[in-house]
Amino acid sequence: MNIEKNLKSIKEDLPAEVTLVAVSKTKSTSMIMEAYNAGQRDFGENKVQEMTAKWEELPKDIRWHMIGHVQRNKVKYMSDFVSLIHGVDSHRLLVEIDKRARNSERIIDCLLQVHIAEEESKFGFDEAEIIDLLDSGKLESLKNVRLLGLMGMATFTEDSEQVRREFRGLKKLYDRLKERLPDFRELSMGMSGDYQIGIEEGSTMVRIGSSIFGARN
Ligand SMILES: *Cc1c(COP(=O)(O)O)cnc(C)c1O
Repeated sequence: MNIEKNLKSIKEDLPAEVTLVAVSKTKSTSMIMEAYNAGQRDFGENKVQEMTAKWEELPKDIRWHMIGHVQRNKVKYMSDFVSLIHGVDSHRLLVEIDKRARNSERIIDCLLQVHIAEEESKFGFDEAEIIDLLDSGKLESLKNVRLLGLMGMATFTEDSEQVRREFRGLKKLYDRLKERLPDFRELSMGMSGDYQIGIEEGSTMVRIGSSIFGARN
């Protein structure tokens, strides 16, 4: 696995303004350092404990992205350092992030996760729930979270037209919300198998693991 070479060839595919989040879940700190030494600074993890352990050990200029489902009782472990939480899927979680961010004297950037895939099991808001949340006025009191945009995962399928439809729907929602949420600037969509489609459909951030670090067990 030539991490430096993989990073380079993915970067060549990406428009300059798109952020590459290297998804390092389950991978060793020495593999992360290979990517770091090749210039990579944004890394994504899906478990708070694993991310915290790696943050403690690794250079402090790494930007850590929490891309997985977050349990509220784990927010406190990452509130001092997390750079962006991609998987915010409930108002209750936002309230907890706001509280922990205040304790850490920070404003924590978050993305709302939207359920776009056909599969039942995926986490996330649907469109109506986000609109309801905005209309409710409940976000106004959350001074220590900043909503930067949306994240979504397409259905795991060979059918690229379906993936494209799902990403396109997410982009449409993003554009609509952007009119109400002036901080909106990030649309996190695309993984190893579908990031090219994500880019074509307006992604600003791709989360790529196996194409950089190799398959996970
Ligand atoms: C694991 C994971 C990725 C990366 O997946 P790859 O197929 O290895 O690129 C991206 N996003 C989320 C939310 C993940 O959990």
